[in-house]
Amino acid sequence: MTLSIKTPLIKSSQLSELNNCNVWLKMESSQPTGSFKQRSIGNACLKYVEQGAQKFISSSGGNAGISVAYMGNMLNIPVTVVVPKTTSQKAIDLMVQQDAEVIVHGDSWMEANELALSYVNEKAVYIHPFDDQYLWDGVAHIIDEVIAEDIHPSAVILSVGGGSLISGIHQGLTQNHLDIPIYAIETHGTASLNNSMKLGKHIKLDEVTGVATTLAAKQVCENAFMISQNHNVQGITVSDQAAVNACLKFLDDHRTLVEPACGATLSILYDQKINFMPLENVLVIVCGGASISFEQLSKYAQQLVA
Ligand SMILES: *Cc1c(COP(=O)(O)O)cnc(C)c1O
Repeated sequence: MTLSIKTPLIKSSQLSELNNCNVWLKMESSQPTGSFKQRSIGNACLKYVEQGAQKFISSSGGNAGISVAYMGNMLNIPVTVVVPKTTSQKAIDLMVQQDAEVIVHGDSWMEANELALSYVNEKAVYIHPFDDQYLWDGVAHIIDEVIAEDIHPSAVILSVGGGSLISGIHQGLTQNHLDIPIYAIETHGTASLNNSMKLGKHIKLDEVTGVATTLAAKQVCENAFMISQNHNVQGITVSDQAAVNACLKFLDDHRTLVEPACGATLSILYDQKINFMPLENVLVIVCGGASISFEQLSKYAQQLVA
């Protein structure tokens, strides 16, 4: 049974030339559900089934919910996902396609989440989108796979939403004794980690804005904040326009459609935001994202790039 797959590690000739170093793309966009969530949610769902779970509950209207739905379908476990009215039809369709029960409830994620939590009991397990050790264990394998291909990165660039990706990558680096900087990328409107880093305390944003809805956690998990305080983490925020532009360029260069949440990270390389040394191997986590269509990306581009 294929739950999450070993993803391609591709040297981008376009981005390598542009940045005068070796840029390696870890293509999590190639996961069966289109994002790295297949690693995090995939592992957590397996662990909870081993511990007796008979139902999965989620409140994610995005890639986490899509992966929970996929896992339920694969493992023959019923899934209920409660999502707010703001959730894209595309995401709902992808969850229903996997036979999940999707309940649309409330104007905000908080309201949807409250209803979801009311369904949780001993057998019906809540799958958190980013704050759970099992999620991070699944993500850490990304680094094992890179090392197994004999690529030794000198820096990693990734996007931050609620912080499971950075938590898992940090764990993978530590397990492989790699002490290298992590560049933590957010859009200006979703900068929960970058703002916490600036203030030196674990803050919660009043609101989140912009097109990178997948990064829109108002507060990162405690573990992600701790990593930013104890490891070499360099925070950078980018505009929505830069993220969308990078999605369009990446589509041309690598023929892969990704969400602005992923475009934010790619924009660091397209816009040459960091000076790398010529022989450096820079690892880019192409986190992917399934809640995007070419039509939607074109609309964002018209609104922003004009
Ligand atoms: C979930 C997700 C993120 C953010 O990951 P966190 O673990 O929440 O920080 C970024 N990009 C994509 C495509 C995602 O699905």
